[in-house]
Amino acid sequence: MTLGHTFPPDPLISKRAHMVRDQVERRGVRDPRVLEAMRAVPRHLFLSGPDRASAYDDTPLPIGCHQTISQPYIVGFMTEALAINEAETVLEIGTGSGYQTAILACLARKVISIERIADLADRARENLRALGIDNAEIIVGDGTAGRPDLSPFDAVLVTAGAPAAPRPLLEQLAPGGRLIAPVGGRSVQELELWTRTRTGFDQRRLIAVVFVPLIGEYGWKE
Ligand code: SAM
Repeated sequence: MTLGHTFPPDPLISKRAHMVRDQVERRGVRDPRVLEAMRAVPRHLFLSGPDRASAYDDTPLPIGCHQTISQPYIVGFMTEALAINEAETVLEIGTGSGYQTAILACLARKVISIERIADLADRARENLRALGIDNAEIIVGDGTAGRPDLSPFDAVLVTAGAPAAPRPLLEQLAPGGRLIAPVGGRSVQELELWTRTRTGFDQRRLIAVVFVPLIGEYGWKE
């Protein structure tokens, strides 16, 4: 199996393998490329201070600026649902630490990731650069409007909770393109999976989740 990136061995490789087996695969994520990417990307490098020691725990963790890195299972679940192949371009909304971006960069040809907090975007860029990931571009701005100038996208992954799937992001999907987003209230949401068809969109509700709010023109007000 080929991923777009390989990383040098590190001392936490077996902790990561346990995380993938016990928290992700055992809960039903089966896509071998997704599991391999999660075994490969050194998640601990996307955390700092005392939280780094908890990098392989079954939980979201703080990354500063009142934001979080998502629970490993949710990263695996959302990534698998998008069924990304190595020729595709992916738009991510909510870069955060850059960990999910790194997973996507292993699976896709190109990743565009938008983060509204410049400090987080700077740190995420540094995290990706340190790992030699060169097919992910991080942009500072309101991701709810997407980037029509860079569209269409084969897949869109929204990593913050929205009141509704942002219309501009759906419109920027290529035919056959998929979007996954947490949609619902400010504190609890459901993952919605949208697929662009020849005549419109298919929409499915997947599982209940808890994400920080998506703040922006087509999200929540601050
Ligand atoms: N996937 C990230 C990771 O691996 O670390 C975690 C993302 S965190 C749960 C959600 C992120 O969405 C936060 O960094 C937040 O600042 C960002 N965000 C919220 N609203 C946004 C918007 N309108 N545009 C871009 N980013 C936004």
